Amino acid sequence: MSEVRLRFAPSPTGYLHVGGARTALFNWLYARRMDGKFVLRIEDTDLQRSTREYEQAIMDALRWCGLDWDEGPDVGGPYGPYRQSERTKAGIYSEYARKLVEMERAYYTVYDKIDRKKELLRTFDFPKDYADQGHDVTISFKVPQGKTKFYDLLKGELEFDNSTIEDFVMIKSDGFPTYNYAVVIDDHLMHITHVFRGEDHVSNTPKQIMLYEALGWDIPQFMHIPLILGFDRTPLSKRHGATSVEHFRSIGILSRGLMNYLALLGWSVGEEEIFDVKARVKQFDPSTISNKGVIFDPSKLEWVNGKHMRMMGVEELFKEFSDWINFTGRRMPQVERSYALRVVQVCREKVNTLAQLYDFAYPFFFDDYNFEEQFISEYLLSPYAEELLKKAIEKFSDLEDWSVAGTEKVCRELAELGIASKNKVFQTLRGAVTGRLVTPGLFETLSILEKQKTIERLMRALEHRQTKAQERATQA
Ligand code: GLU
Repeated sequence: MSEVRLRFAPSPTGYLHVGGARTALFNWLYARRMDGKFVLRIEDTDLQRSTREYEQAIMDALRWCGLDWDEGPDVGGPYGPYRQSERTKAGIYSEYARKLVEMERAYYTVYDKIDRKKELLRTFDFPKDYADQGHDVTISFKVPQGKTKFYDLLKGELEFDNSTIEDFVMIKSDGFPTYNYAVVIDDHLMHITHVFRGEDHVSNTPKQIMLYEALGWDIPQFMHIPLILGFDRTPLSKRHGATSVEHFRSIGILSRGLMNYLALLGWSVGEEEIFDVKARVKQFDPSTISNKGVIFDPSKLEWVNGKHMRMMGVEELFKEFSDWINFTGRRMPQVERSYALRVVQVCREKVNTLAQLYDFAYPFFFDDYNFEEQFISEYLLSPYAEELLKKAIEKFSDLEDWSVAGTEKVCRELAELGIASKNKVFQTLRGAVTGRLVTPGLFETLSILEKQKTIERLMRALEHRQTKAQERATQA
């Protein structure tokens, strides 16, 4: 059997959408499953809307997703993409267009140079005089009579009546090819065997089939995947909120979390929901992909991501976390590695994204945390707080054993002094050393912070109490 070859062919007119990422994933999975090849082709023939910035962003997003491609121009380092704009300049598309004209399967159309919508002439001979005079010339495919059929892996045999399809432009007056034409030339020249893409392309496919037939080329296997929908069951778009891979990366979704969730949108791997997609390559079977629309649920994505955050090694998570901090340009904590690992280990239990981890772990990493309003009014300004904090400073100064059991012992002793109820004592201590009322376990928190930080923070809380009390007295 010949080699299986798939491609992902984004237009660089925006960031990589999660739907695009899922399409890329399914193509990539099948290429890997079959030990075939996965190709990236940038479809940048819409000069008005395509930019190099979007192209770069799409490639960065694909790499971050781990969807690596296997060939392309040598640009020193990872392969560059194939670009239709460059292939246009190399004359690839015009060559086959001329052939189709010679075969009388396509024709030139001349448009008036002033009234550019006004058709002057259709001809199979190149209208050199008109072109020289500056009139616009396009090349269109002549749709034959009859029917066009193709087999879709998910939808089965589809048939279209050619009378419903009009002749279509292959080469525009600027010399650039249209999507429906260039895609066929490239898929053929790149020996693409399987085309998996969004269902929105079903109506384009008969035009492409006609071109394959006219050129006498083999037709790849098509699979049109149902689109990802929003909660209102309309195709997922900006109206539903941010949908780019970059957005999910920036809010701290892991690449493996996103790939897992996108795989779930269509591919039924079995009962299991949480898995490492890359480890399941050999199980990928396109014929099991669902032919129903799937709904994108960001909270489910976060849930899946949280599972991965807790499942992976702490060292690995910390690496991802540090990369993410750099990516988002946040302040990097300056702490010992062993300390950071412990913080991550404890905090990951309560969060689902790296951004949530950053916020949750903030008081462990930085001293400039704020005291929450609720902590101040309900605990810090309570009459008992001053005595309690002073006692706590005293007792923790004497503490040598900063294990969880060690800090627990002191906390319980403080609660037994009768200054306030146990709950109030614990919440006051918690808020004093972190600024917040929701943190990892109090004893664990203190054990991580250890003596110096704990004492400094208890003192800071005490000072803050005085400042706040004065403020409130002058206001009253
Ligand atoms: N450039 C097209 C798109 O972004 C590619 C469609 C295809 O895979 O044929 O939708």
